[in-house]
Amino acid sequence: MRTADAVIVGSRCAGSTLALALARRGWEVILVDRESLPSETVSTHLIFPNTLARFKALGVLDTLLASHELPMLKFRIVGFGHEIAGPFTPLSGFDRCAAPRRSALDKAILDTALAAGACGCFKERVVDLIGSGTAADPVTGVVLESGERIGAKWVFGADGRASTVAGRLGIAKTRVLQGDVGFLFAYWRGIPNDGYASSHIRTEEIVNRWACEDGVCLLIAWGDEQFTRGSKEERRRRYIERLHRFPELIAPGELADAEMIGEVVVAPPSLMRGYFRSPSGCGWALVGDASHFKHPGTAQGIADAVEQALYVAEAVCGPDAGLDGYERWRDERSSEHYSWSFTWGCFPPPESESLFRGWASDADAAQDLRDSFSRRLEPSAALSQERISRWLAS
Ligand SMILES: Cc1cc2nc3c(=O)[nH]c(=O)nc-3n(C[C@H](O)[C@H](O)[C@H](O)COP(=O)(O)OP(=O)(O)OC[C@H]3O[C@@H](n4cnc5c(N)ncnc54)[C@H](O)[C@@H]3O)c2cc1C
Repeated sequence: MRTADAVIVGSRCAGSTLALALARRGWEVILVDRESLPSETVSTHLIFPNTLARFKALGVLDTLLASHELPMLKFRIVGFGHEIAGPFTPLSGFDRCAAPRRSALDKAILDTALAAGACGCFKERVVDLIGSGTAADPVTGVVLESGERIGAKWVFGADGRASTVAGRLGIAKTRVLQGDVGFLFAYWRGIPNDGYASSHIRTEEIVNRWACEDGVCLLIAWGDEQFTRGSKEERRRRYIERLHRFPELIAPGELADAEMIGEVVVAPPSLMRGYFRSPSGCGWALVGDASHFKHPGTAQGIADAVEQALYVAEAVCGPDAGLDGYERWRDERSSEHYSWSFTWGCFPPPESESLFRGWASDADAAQDLRDSFSRRLEPSAALSQERISRWLAS
């Protein structure tokens, strides 16, 4: 039987970051993924200065930039016509966001992890665990679909929302929340980078535009459940119609001159259900979406995955070599952002126009709002009770 210090199931942003951090600490790591990278996954790719700074410190950003041209973008929200736009307060020198597609980003993290000594085992599905995860019978490895067993001191589930590791351990989802919006999105060539990651918000209609890497642009149209239903042709028609309804964001000429690459991707509201899972036990832990999922409306999933991976690596290599504090730490980090993500994952009620007007007319408040996305501030600082009362009163 092959053995390692750690087997990590899933090799995208959570798994590869954990593999990198453990390999750099001298651990023997085997990363198993049923796919092989580069490949795309359903995501809108936005990462903020906090995550860019982490990727820079890990060497991942340099790997990414060695193969891709990645625009750095200011952040713009236009809510009911009120514009809140600018850079973030710098974090380790980064004051912009970026949106590398996952085929580029996840590959850069994985390549950096493999260069640090992690071993990859791709196109192999984990179907079972060795051990039930109790104190009497800790998890001591994984079983692949091929029948191969790999033994390890630790098994980490970085295997996404439908985590096999969590499933085999019987870990239930708790605190489930669902928003009322879904997305249709597609990638385009020929839409110029205007320097911003933009969200234009109206009652029951939201459209986003941002540049990814290598001249590709992402255009996202938000709608209700019905908007994301129907045949491929119906969704494509609805998507294009919705984009045309935002000429202030995407000029009709820009769309006419551009080429859509591939199909319209659909992310229905049910795909974006949030939850927590108990994240660790005897011989095992969960990181990334396997552990916790927020609504993508605030684009925090990659940041969470990377932050959790770094926390777990530090904790299992530390003097106590355990994860007793992991769940508390994760939940504290998420306590405000979880419900905040679902506030953004629903269409704003008409009275929230006052809030957008307030943010747009107060430079400090606008900065605080942007900085809540980069986790420099908690959402309650960006939308304090004092601001709410003042803005609603005026
Ligand atoms: C519509 C949408 C838009 C989003 N937009 C953003 C955004 O703009 N910014 C942001 O930060 N986050 C965004 N997110 C969230 C983000 O995509 C996730 O948080 C992130 O992908 C989590 O990474 P992960 O590594 O935990 O899991 P995943 O990316 O899901 O990777 C899991 C990996 O595990 C592998 N795997 C699964 N099961 C097995 C198995 N049994 N055996 C072997 N391998 C297995 C899979 O093949 C996969 O490669 C978005 C999510 C959605 C749904």
